Amino acid sequence: MVGHFPEFIDPLALVEKRRQFKGSLPFSKMPHLQDWLLSREGEAKFDLRFEKEGRIAAVTGKVEAELELQCQCCLEGIPWRVSSEVRLGIVRSIDEADLLPADYEPLLLEGDEAIPLADLVQDEIMLAIPPIPQHERCSMLSPEPAEVVPEPKGRKNPFAVLAELKKLNQ
Ligand SMILES: [Zn+2]
Repeated sequence: MVGHFPEFIDPLALVEKRRQFKGSLPFSKMPHLQDWLLSREGEAKFDLRFEKEGRIAAVTGKVEAELELQCQCCLEGIPWRVSSEVRLGIVRSIDEADLLPADYEPLLLEGDEAIPLADLVQDEIMLAIPPIPQHERCSMLSPEPAEVVPEPKGRKNPFAVLAELKKLNQ
């Protein structure tokens, strides 16, 4: 880990103090992200500024990581590079979030408790991961189209045959 940064942060207080944190956090601090990783080794780099942008308490900067996701088709690894520009507007309610300009993602603070800095970094990375990771050309996907079985001709629907038999017996 490089840089000096707290493990837990109070984003609004940091905005007031106009703080900036730069460093790296291991994936082991990001439990939700870990579920997506084939290799859990590694770390994410971040550079985050907390400051007012007009009337918005904002978190801006960058999050970068080299991940190894698991292909949901062949279960092999997929190298996945994340390089995300961060632009968050700190809000205290959904209503406030609706008022944010479109280029801000809301960072919803529900209580007065400090949040783990790793959660913030994790959320940014999660946004950059596809919902179903898959190789662009996965070896498990057969290049030939599925074989089309032709409809048998001249064969009667067995139920139709049954109906006819019933008629004969009446
Ligand atoms: Zn694959």
